Amino acid sequence: MEAHANPEDFDLYALGALDGEERQRFEAHVRSCEACQKQLAQAREVAALVGLTAAEAAVPPAVKARLMEKIQKDKDATQQAAAQTAQKPARKRARWGLRFSLGFAMAAVVLALVCFWLWKQDTLHEQQLSHMMARLEKTQAEARRNQADVRAMTRVVSAPDTVQVDLAHQAGTPPGTAHVFYNGRMGIIIYTGVIAPAPSDKSYQLWLVPDSGAPVSAGLVEADQATGAAVAHLPRGLAAKAFAVTLEPKGGRPQPTGPKVLVGTVGNA
Ligand SMILES: [Zn+2]
Repeated sequence: MEAHANPEDFDLYALGALDGEERQRFEAHVRSCEACQKQLAQAREVAALVGLTAAEAAVPPAVKARLMEKIQKDKDATQQAAAQTAQKPARKRARWGLRFSLGFAMAAVVLALVCFWLWKQDTLHEQQLSHMMARLEKTQAEARRNQADVRAMTRVVSAPDTVQVDLAHQAGTPPGTAHVFYNGRMGIIIYTGVIAPAPSDKSYQLWLVPDSGAPVSAGLVEADQATGAAVAHLPRGLAAKAFAVTLEPKGGRPQPTGPKVLVGTVGNA
């Protein structure tokens, strides 16, 4: 009989924080193990409890206070970044605020998970704890990288010279819709959208079509880029005529070769 899954993997899995080979191994075992299926069901209940609104039930007050303090600190930092641009975001951009809040909610879930484990740590073996800490460091490194993106987004979305372009679906290609914020002065493109998944040997690639000259690649975008926007940095000062998403061979191409899936013209937003 194969060994049962690591105890901490149940909570990590329930919170969507288990990935790669470990996730596959975990899923493969749980599929064929009734005991672990039961434990996963419990972990899912706990994961739901650890959510912000029901945090009281699972997290001791002192831990919760620390958690809220940390979330508030993160929030203040982003608000400060927004204030630095000294511009009030336009009303139609308000939904971006929602996306930032989603980021805070994610941070809150990760922190709640940590608190929950610290709270239970007397029942944990040393080895499990260090495993957990290693993963946390990885999560924190990712959070730091995302923070740079969030800062770029805040600057672009609140700048008066940012253009917003809606990208429309082109007949005969996978259905989808997307939006681009572009600031030529800063050379930053923010892309968010959802397209039907690309075939496994293809990638979606975003292009800036300049007033003159060849399209400039703004990198690959995921089919589902709804909550996590893609941020691309381009040479500054490019005047954009249009934006397009094409279907390219896996990994993208220096120049577009595939069909245009989404297209939006600047000024037609
Ligand atoms: Zn098992």
